Amino acid sequence: AKYKGKNRYEIYHRHLGIAVKEELQIKQALYYALENEEFVLFYQPQVCENDSTVIGYEALLRWSHPEYGLLTPDKFIEIAENSGFIIPMGEWVLKESCRQLKEWQEFYGRHELKVSVNLSAQQFKDRYLDDKILMAVEEAGLTPKHLVIEITESMVLEDFKGSVKVLDSLRKRGVEVHLDDFGTGYSSLNYLSKLPVDTIKIDKSFVWNIGKTEQDGAIVRAIIAMAENLGMKVIAEGVESKEQLEYLKQTGCHLYQGFYYSKPAPPVGVVVY
Ligand code: C2E
Ligand code: CA
Ligand code: CA
Ligand code: CA
Repeated sequence: AKYKGKNRYEIYHRHLGIAVKEELQIKQALYYALENEEFVLFYQPQVCENDSTVIGYEALLRWSHPEYGLLTPDKFIEIAENSGFIIPMGEWVLKESCRQLKEWQEFYGRHELKVSVNLSAQQFKDRYLDDKILMAVEEAGLTPKHLVIEITESMVLEDFKGSVKVLDSLRKRGVEVHLDDFGTGYSSLNYLSKLPVDTIKIDKSFVWNIGKTEQDGAIVRAIIAMAENLGMKVIAEGVESKEQLEYLKQTGCHLYQGFYYSKPAPPVGVVVY
């Protein structure tokens, strides 16, 4: 999506194979899709290797488009962010993921299961964010400790003090905070030590290079050691192979997510163990 002048977006969407000229048109298409229940959540398990149990699921958004089929977020998230649609869409993600988690908790008798939801930069700036989060949790019959929010470093850097305040308030109520894509941004150790997060997610790019370059192994080891010293947990994302898993285990990582365990799947295909 290219920004072209005042309030005009000229978007040629290669993936969708359509050219859309007006921001309003795109916005309307997205609202229609939400109304029409074309958005679905896929879930990917997060696994604790110590006792080989699923501890929770990351909710990952999909657009089940009547013409173009199942679309991943890279095809529409940017448009949603630029048009403001990300706010109602994000609210839907929160509500639906909480509803689904409650259903699984009851069905499997596993009330410790959690659900992780990705927040966008726009949502994070929303002054009603904590109200919306707590309402979604409450409406579903859950408590805040069942919800994890995933944020990125770039989201907090713009207004670090304000972000710390928001995160502190959410964590005080029991919401867990995970720092996504760690290592890909402008990580400053100084910032990290002051950031109220429970868990760091090592970006998949580092995991994929395990065994390929000496440096990436060193980075993974350094991240894990640092997190430990700061009292944070670590989730390795994008784990695809036994080799990667073994390496990560040796370095002291305990929590994993990736195709090795399961691809993101619709609710009926989700694994619980
Ligand atoms: P992310 O939060 O970093 O999510 C992880 C991405 O890696 C997902 O892509 C997931 O399908 C993929 N993945 C997980 N394990 C593996 C693996 O072992 N191998 C490979 N090749 N890929 C793996 P997905 O579902 O396409 O989502 C892309 C991004 O879209 C997410 O990156 C997240 O930033 C964003 N996103 C997804 N759902 C939402 C949402 O509800 N709200 C917002 N604001 N953003 C979302
Ligand atoms: Ca994520
Ligand atoms: Ca990630
Ligand atoms: Ca991401």
